[in-house]
Amino acid sequence: RKGTAVITGASSGLGLATAKALAETGKWHVIMACRDFLKASRAATAAGMDKGSYTIVHLDLASLDSVRQFVKNVRQLEMPIDVVVCNAAVYQPTAKEPSYTADGFEMSVGVNHLGHFLLARELLSDLQSSDYPSKRLIIVGSITAGNTNTLAGNVPPKANLGDLRGLAGGLNGVGSSVMIDGGEFDGAKAYKDSKVCNMLTMQEFHRRYHEETGVTFASLYPGCIATTGLFREHIPLFRLLFPPFQKYITKGYVSEEEAGKRLAQVVSDPSLTKSGVYWSWNKNSASFENQLSEEASDADKAKKLWEISEKLVGLA
Ligand code: NDP
Repeated sequence: RKGTAVITGASSGLGLATAKALAETGKWHVIMACRDFLKASRAATAAGMDKGSYTIVHLDLASLDSVRQFVKNVRQLEMPIDVVVCNAAVYQPTAKEPSYTADGFEMSVGVNHLGHFLLARELLSDLQSSDYPSKRLIIVGSITAGNTNTLAGNVPPKANLGDLRGLAGGLNGVGSSVMIDGGEFDGAKAYKDSKVCNMLTMQEFHRRYHEETGVTFASLYPGCIATTGLFREHIPLFRLLFPPFQKYITKGYVSEEEAGKRLAQVVSDPSLTKSGVYWSWNKNSASFENQLSEEASDADKAKKLWEISEKLVGLA
């Protein structure tokens, strides 16, 4: 049978390119989990995806109710769930003030981490009950947060979760900071922090559930896709200079199509079944297991993050 992959944020950029790459193989049905139904539908058509190769299901990660509703809706499709890809993200590098999810969490961490945390926890039982030979939960990471040993990982502001006091306080700006470490709001840092949370979460899933469920947990850095909508909120000069900078200076540039193929590989390649791994690609586009920064591989922090996140999303 065909595999079924849920991809969040499949309406643009990496998510769309991955949905297209998987659908084109004829071996996958993609559940496009998107907040804007019409945009997703137009994007799939414009990408030339075959109508029978995907189903769009509404998901707004900025609302825990929407996440729970999504889980119900997706179960009603009565399709097995073989792979889940947590890909959607918001990035607000120029925001002067924080914005908030429906549940009152600072937006970047609320969407990128907490929304996905609840989604992944809920869908784990569905993955477990699938009879697909290789079941996977993939959380998209980033070099800017995960690899402080690289140029891109050292551009300030750097990710830092501190002792998680802001998160423990509810990340709501009411009696607690909107930043995980308890500091002042900084949109670029909030994004990087959320990506560290993504990578810590993937490893904690691996430690807690890999043996018991047989599910492969993985993260990846697909390369710098300087052309996606992720940078839509950046200043115009940045948007003009960033793609050539990545192409010629850092040489980390990768097209949306190529990045989509990389993520599709992590979804479906029979050789990428190792769990607890953070995949990257070298210049010849060969995948390798990358190292994570000290903070992004801190097991105590991962456990603490897991426990606080459970409380915030109502699982504990
Ligand atoms: P895009 O902005 O093109 O795509 C982001 C997707 O997330 C869109 O589909 C967007 O939906 C969706 N999204 C945003 N907010 C929500 C929400 N509240 N609920 C549901 N969906 C939402 O960016 P990219 O494709 O670049 O980013 C995809 C992933 O790749 C992210 O995890 C990012 O961190 C990661 N990444 C990107 C890199 C890059 O260089 N671009 C580098 C490393 C990692 P909509 O279309 O409705 O706006």
